[in-house]
Amino acid sequence: SARDEFTGKASIYLDANENPYDNGLNRYPDPYQFELKAKIADIKNVKVQQIIIGNGSDEIIDLLYRAFCEPQVDEVISLSPTYGMYKVYANINNVEIKDCWLNSSFEIVEEDLLGMINEKTKMIWFCSPNNPTGNSLNPESIKKVLQNFKGLVIVDEAYIYFSDSESWVNYLDFYPNLFVMQTLSKAWGLAGLRLGMGFASPQIIALLNKIKPPYNINLLSQQTALEQLEFLDQKNSQVDTILQQRDWLSHELKQLKKVHEVYPTDANFVLVKMDNATDIYNKMVEKSIILRNRSTVKLCLDCIRITIGTPEENKELLRNLAELLN
Ligand SMILES: *Cc1c(COP(=O)(O)O)cnc(C)c1O
Repeated sequence: SARDEFTGKASIYLDANENPYDNGLNRYPDPYQFELKAKIADIKNVKVQQIIIGNGSDEIIDLLYRAFCEPQVDEVISLSPTYGMYKVYANINNVEIKDCWLNSSFEIVEEDLLGMINEKTKMIWFCSPNNPTGNSLNPESIKKVLQNFKGLVIVDEAYIYFSDSESWVNYLDFYPNLFVMQTLSKAWGLAGLRLGMGFASPQIIALLNKIKPPYNINLLSQQTALEQLEFLDQKNSQVDTILQQRDWLSHELKQLKKVHEVYPTDANFVLVKMDNATDIYNKMVEKSIILRNRSTVKLCLDCIRITIGTPEENKELLRNLAELLN
């Protein structure tokens, strides 16, 4: 792009066929989002060269397939059941994705995973805490894969702020094949902004920068993200409330007669197994309360995923569920 050939400050810009009359948006945005990355680098304690920003994590998932996988040749593995977008973008990019199923406690079966890796395997997707199950994956298993697999090991930490686990961002300098993803969509409360972050070695980031759309993060998003990242205390206090509510709701749900299991969770949602989940889901829709029906997902039979809302919303949720499940 034009803004790629000249970087820095000048007095007159006549290089990009922009309208010269200032309205706040007449100039193309910084293709590498340096100001925003400097702020993120500061918060995450990484170098600017170790960060890529995407139009949501989704864009980064897509870029990883395009950078590292040859369509119809290479393969990737995901620890399933997990976030649907790894498969969506595998399919869009015509790359085969294999499920390595978690066990019934949603933990990694190391022998299965190590046994599935072959010379075509280019990436392995770990989501920790995992969506939709809520639990964190065993860091020892991830470590073993980082040490024994030569391809890219991706750890999606979308829900890291709701967990006590240490972020893998702190280990980027130890593992050249580690790629960590986070997002502003969950704890930061900015799902509408569409801003995902990838952290990896400067070499991997440089590669992704070559294939990303030049102006993937628009000026308003860059400015708004910079403003919103100032509200660290507000984010932390909202996370605290959500965690208290999560514990309260999990406890209350366990008391309902037709609830069979409330799975342990390190995220801002809880997976619940119950009698006739689809029926319950539909009845809740009639009451104008929308949950996520996961009951057709393997290992999640008769499960509904419930996001933690405000205290008032959670009380209302519980009152309605108690009518159906007692
Ligand atoms: C919600 C979520 C994301 C966020 O995706 P964005 O595109 O950044 O909104 C990423 N990974 C997982 C596992 C999620 O559940």
